[in-house]
Amino acid sequence: MGKLSSYIRPYGGYIVLTMAIKLLAAVMELFVPYLMEIILDDVVPAGGRNLVFVYGGLMLLCAGGCLLLNIVANRMSAISSGKITLAIRHDLFDRLSRLSARQMDQLTVSSAESRLTSDTYNINQLLARIQRLGVRAPILLLGGIVMMLGMDPALATVLVVMLPAIALIVYFVTKASVPLYTTEQGVLDKVVRVLQENITGIRVIKALSKTDYEKGRFNQVNQELTNIDQKAGIISGITNPGASLILNLGLTAVVVAGAYRVNAGSCQSGVIVAFLQYFVMILNAMLGVTRIFVIWSKGEASARRVADVLATPADLTVLPAAEVENSGEEQPVPHVEFRNVTFSYTGVGENIGHLSIRLMRGESLGILGATGSGKSTILNLLMRFYDPDQGQVLIDGRDVRTIPPEELRPKFGVVFQNDFVAEGTIADNIRFFRPLADEALTRAAEDAQALEFIQNKSGQMNAPVAVRGNNLSGGQKQRLLIARALAGAPEILVLDDASSALDYRTDAQLRRALRTNYRDVTTILVAQRISSIRHCNHILVLSDGQVIGSGTHQELMESCGEYRMIAQTQMGEEKEGA
Ligand code: ATP
Ligand code: MG
Repeated sequence: MGKLSSYIRPYGGYIVLTMAIKLLAAVMELFVPYLMEIILDDVVPAGGRNLVFVYGGLMLLCAGGCLLLNIVANRMSAISSGKITLAIRHDLFDRLSRLSARQMDQLTVSSAESRLTSDTYNINQLLARIQRLGVRAPILLLGGIVMMLGMDPALATVLVVMLPAIALIVYFVTKASVPLYTTEQGVLDKVVRVLQENITGIRVIKALSKTDYEKGRFNQVNQELTNIDQKAGIISGITNPGASLILNLGLTAVVVAGAYRVNAGSCQSGVIVAFLQYFVMILNAMLGVTRIFVIWSKGEASARRVADVLATPADLTVLPAAEVENSGEEQPVPHVEFRNVTFSYTGVGENIGHLSIRLMRGESLGILGATGSGKSTILNLLMRFYDPDQGQVLIDGRDVRTIPPEELRPKFGVVFQNDFVAEGTIADNIRFFRPLADEALTRAAEDAQALEFIQNKSGQMNAPVAVRGNNLSGGQKQRLLIARALAGAPEILVLDDASSALDYRTDAQLRRALRTNYRDVTTILVAQRISSIRHCNHILVLSDGQVIGSGTHQELMESCGEYRMIAQTQMGEEKEGA
């Protein structure tokens, strides 16, 4: 919790006040049995009717005041803990959304989700309950003991046996159950992950009839969570009956010993009644202390998980231009350049090896290669989602590591592989929260070959788009995404497998529109079809992260066997399609 203290500090005064009110309420509660003892032993035997009312009134005042103060304080604790959690959740969300791709790979999305939800909830519980129980339980426990010692020290010796017994139970239960709660949070991560994979992959799971398999997988993690929960529950379940047993034995001892003492005249009967009440109070306080331990350890584990994310150092920081030596400045400077770039996601093997590319402004690059050969990785490096392990990625001769993100990102118009269409209207999806004029949207839609189908929809640009674009066909979705990429008037256009669902004719029209209307835009196309990239100025053929062919279509047809083979298998199709 210490790591999050900066969030708690602003509410320090408020929390102290809450706890002070809680303290006052607990003290008032302590006096109720004491007042009763006075009425029973002193006031009633003396026969003073008025005094009965006075002490009765005092009792009522203490009980009522205690209730009222508790309500006020509990409300205050809910307010402060709610506000603190709000701030933590806000910052956590902010930090999560600025984690680099590599940091997110490490953290995993499901863990990010449970940190943002259940962990912050545990912190909230900790903050609220500590303010409430944290003062009340110890005060009632200690105060109860003091009161009993004050009334009849001899009778209070029962406590000497009872308290250590309860303390032992509490100690062992806490010790056994606390580690379980830490494990539980990790298992919860797993449940979320399986659930998430299931929801995202629902179609393919159904299509491959993997529903039963997935059910089994979910049942497994679900069972794991249940087992831990059950174990923790069974262990903490010992506390209450165990403590009750000891309490009842204690009560019996008080009544028996008290009876002898009253008979002998060394103690008054009111003391016995008050003792019984203090016993119950002390027992509840003991259990309250146990609960504090549990809440504390749960909250502490969660606080650590949240603080870890908050403390993640900024990755992909913008380096000062001078720090990156820019060897051999040449003229003219290429628009986009990869200079001997080597990169690995995990540090094992190479996902990109010694890649060098030079693209002048307005030139186009086509990237071809089997799945997993590193095509998308090149784009990730260019847009600086990851930094290369060796070499440099440069735009206009500047290392991308020296360009601030707010300058870097707008340079790109991009369609990611499997990019997503959001719920809203067609215009919303093309605009995507950027301050773009309506004409820009229309022009982009036209160039993306999307205008025709948009105009056929009722509502046209304002036609609704369902969640994940479910009311659009695959090709319509792709054209909408291309329109989004074009609308921002990018310097560099990046299309990762963005026209795979288009028929050959539309694909050709798209390429023609790009060539004529986006002359100055440097374009990088990733495609499976030779026809999509054959007109590019440069073509790279990748295999396992290595360049196995580089040049124009003609050059590659002569020099690269792999390319020639792909071309020959596809040419037949293309003729049929054209
Ligand atoms: P496809 O045609 O299927 O899209 P690709 O050529 O775009 O394939 P990449 O996505 O660049 O392939 O992946 C290249 C390699 O890097 C693959 O072996 C893949 O398993 C690995 N890889 C991709 N993303 C990550 C990641 N976030 N963490 C670890 N490895 C990754
Ligand atoms: Mg890819």
